[in-house]
Amino acid sequence: MKDTGKRMTDDSWGVARDELCKRLGRHSYASWIEPLQLTGLEERVARFNVPTNFIGDWVARNYAEHILRELRAQGVAVDRLEFSVAAQGGLPAGRPRDGAAPAPAAAGTGPSAAPVAEGELPGAPLDQRFTFDSFVVGKPNELAHAAARRVAEGGPVTFNPLFLYGGVGLGKTHLMHAIAHDLQARRPDLRVLYLSAEQFMYRFVQALRERQIMDFKGLFRSVDVLMVDDVQFIAGKDSTQEEFFHTFNALVDQNKQIVISADRAPGEIKDLEDRIKSRLQCGLVVDLHPTDYELRLGILQQKVEVYRQQYRGLTLAPGVLEFLAHRIATNVRVLEGALTRLFAFASLVGREITLDLAQDCLADILRASDRKVTIEEIQRKVAEHYNVRLSDLIGPKRVRTIARPRQIAMYLAKQMTLRSLPEIGRRFGGRDHTTILYGVKKIEELISTDSQLADDLQLLRRMLEA
Ligand code: ADP
Ligand code: MG
Repeated sequence: MKDTGKRMTDDSWGVARDELCKRLGRHSYASWIEPLQLTGLEERVARFNVPTNFIGDWVARNYAEHILRELRAQGVAVDRLEFSVAAQGGLPAGRPRDGAAPAPAAAGTGPSAAPVAEGELPGAPLDQRFTFDSFVVGKPNELAHAAARRVAEGGPVTFNPLFLYGGVGLGKTHLMHAIAHDLQARRPDLRVLYLSAEQFMYRFVQALRERQIMDFKGLFRSVDVLMVDDVQFIAGKDSTQEEFFHTFNALVDQNKQIVISADRAPGEIKDLEDRIKSRLQCGLVVDLHPTDYELRLGILQQKVEVYRQQYRGLTLAPGVLEFLAHRIATNVRVLEGALTRLFAFASLVGREITLDLAQDCLADILRASDRKVTIEEIQRKVAEHYNVRLSDLIGPKRVRTIARPRQIAMYLAKQMTLRSLPEIGRRFGGRDHTTILYGVKKIEELISTDSQLADDLQLLRRMLEA
């Protein structure tokens, strides 16, 4: 009974693995799924042997959902996965796995003394969507893109390292993955290792703990292309920095390509050793600028094509993408998130994607990415618009020609900033909060009857948001 159960699970695992390979791509599959050995299924817990704790942790963190989904798709009743390192310990290079063919022999010219089986480079999985094809190039990122393309050709090293930096969500990780994808296709003989600085540290600490520091060094010095993402992470982490510095130098000396990313320029990373800073500046340093309207629109247009396939039958009203590109200027990740939500929501309620729908469904995102307006700006703009002096607007005069604009400014301050009434009162010459409240209410009343006032407010608001 148990035997047939086990056999069934093995078969299911075989199919699930094939699916995972398709889904995750060969590279990630070889690094993370292939090393797993199914040892049993009891009480809805699937147990796997893994060659190292690191692989177990990594798979548990990054692939558990995928694995569960594929197993369930094969009819396996499973709630949880468990990973443990096989009892015999050591590194299982060439160990036959679960009846599958032995690990593929070292590809190409990698040093034969590589301490970890080929195909198990301890890199992070690559996102299949992050390719050059899907990267939209615009003014703000064209240099970074061109440099990444050059590295991806896999020709002789012309600048080392390539240092990409820029704010969050501007495409650094995307470009690095694109380089890795291209290199894998174009130069399968090269050992390309991509990982985050955090993972570098994690590996390093683990190697120290397990007394495998020589393996660690050997491994990192045996790659042809090393890519470390978010290097600012190791700032202030002294022994990791030290090790990173040595790895870096060893690879540069061998003329191996290094690609680094960070959220700021090398010189501006606090708590990073000076010698590392200067090393990082030796190659080509390029920054990804904040996106501009055209780039955002281009990215949205590209993503929409993907969604059109996925959600057939949904229509998109004109102007929606322009609206989003205009209003969500923070970062591309937020922009993508907005579009994803919009399509999911529209398909759920079965409605056309219109401006109204977008405003409804994305209210929180739109609010969060609104430019922060200050009370001073509001006062200045209102004074300008009504042609009164700023000092009068704030001061005690009560004549109508000044009092009304003052109330408008109070109203806008309440609407467009997060300031409380007492705070606003203070900025209006130390007025009491009840005075502010009165002003706000007065304008609210007038809006519905005074169309000139309503127009003025619209205009002022637009100028302040621009
Ligand atoms: P970073 O690493 O700089 O924080 P990511 O590379 O993770 O940013 O990018 C965030 C998201 O935005 C990803 O989904 C990425 O595909 C997308 N993205 C960023 N820039 C572009 C671009 N120029 N074209 C297409 N997608 C982009
Ligand atoms: Mg990133």
